[in-house]
Amino acid sequence: MKAEVLSIGTELLLGEILDTNAQYLSRELQNLGFDLYHRVTVGDNVERLRRAFESAVARADLVVSSGGLGPTSDDVTCEALARALGRDLIFSEEAWKTVKAQLDVRGRSPCDSDRKQALLVWGATFVPNRVGTAPGQVVTDGGKTVVLLPGPPREMIPMWEKDVRPVIQRNFPGLKPLFSRHLRLVGIPEALVQEAIGDLFRSPDPTVAPYVGPGEVRVRIATRDSDERRAREKVAQVEETIRRKLGKYIYGSDGDDLESVVGNLLARKGLSLAVAESCTGGLLSHRISSVPGASRYFKMGLIAYSPGVKRECLSVRKEDVERGDAVNPEVAVSMARGIRALAAADIGLSTTGFAGPSGGAPGAPVGTVYIGLVWPDGDYVEVQRYPGDRSSVISRGTQAALALLWRFLTRGLEE
Ligand code: ATP
Repeated sequence: MKAEVLSIGTELLLGEILDTNAQYLSRELQNLGFDLYHRVTVGDNVERLRRAFESAVARADLVVSSGGLGPTSDDVTCEALARALGRDLIFSEEAWKTVKAQLDVRGRSPCDSDRKQALLVWGATFVPNRVGTAPGQVVTDGGKTVVLLPGPPREMIPMWEKDVRPVIQRNFPGLKPLFSRHLRLVGIPEALVQEAIGDLFRSPDPTVAPYVGPGEVRVRIATRDSDERRAREKVAQVEETIRRKLGKYIYGSDGDDLESVVGNLLARKGLSLAVAESCTGGLLSHRISSVPGASRYFKMGLIAYSPGVKRECLSVRKEDVERGDAVNPEVAVSMARGIRALAAADIGLSTTGFAGPSGGAPGAPVGTVYIGLVWPDGDYVEVQRYPGDRSSVISRGTQAALALLWRFLTRGLEE
């Protein structure tokens, strides 16, 4: 069964707002078991929209649109679908009641333009909107289903989840839902993932595909099956194969993030952490402290940006901060050692580097980040070089610092 998402609105077409509805609906539809081959964006023009509906209905069994259901003259979705199906628009008293109720909540009396929102394509089932004024509609035509939903995500999503998705599941009983699992890896580039498990990427079922995320590689294992237990087993078998080959790089799965995984490890081991940051400017401390319960292990974060502060607060040696703008391995280790002592923590972690766009020193161009790690009986420093702009160096440096700490806590640093 094929489904298609149609996003309506000139502001989407021109890139003024991000089409998050299309992302959400596409995910939902593929999870339900639909094949998605096209996704269309159309501006607020009734004739172009009519043609878009006609083509989408010709290609797909289900078309889900969002946007253009409001009271203004540029809201032309109903009109366009009615023309595409050769049907009339009918004023619905039931829909009008809900529009008036929503206006009442806002302390506004209805005006003529509001009545437009109670117009349904002939034969449509109306979908109540409990958050905004514009109701949705489900229209069937010759075995095809078209769903019209309003544009604002806070209206569209509850309507989809509560009223529309169950109807779609009922009306398309033969679907094989998608069951997928994402494995999340750090410390290994995509090319080496390809070397290790490239043969699996050609497997037709379950499919296995790599994605490069910010500072990590994700491997997605997916299968479609009407029997969830069988699907889980198939995916688990492939996961086992991948874990056998790449297990030491896998820090988590699905919605896990590195800061939570690291936080759990610290809490479980009863270890405390303190962080001194230069080039990452607080992002590392922010990510660590964003995890609920971080106070169990996170003692302190300090942004030591100037050489003077590095010396005064973290006891970094004068000759080290004076070398390469305080970007060198010795500074990274001293910062980690200094913050560990200041906070009386078990582990000290630090970052210093050149986020750019200007700066850099001999042997340490823009994009160089040193990460220091100090624990009771040892220390370690890692150097990373990142291409890209300032924000990307900062976020990748932060991710690398968390990845280093994860590696230290799970398998040690010797390799
Ligand atoms: P309304 O009654 O609010 O006018 P509507 O169905 O007419 O509902 P639109 O006018 O098309 O919706 O869009 C209203 C707002 O909803 C947009 O300005 C935008 O902020 C948001 N929106 C619309 N479509 C999308 C989308 N595809 N992704 C994310 N946000 C969207």
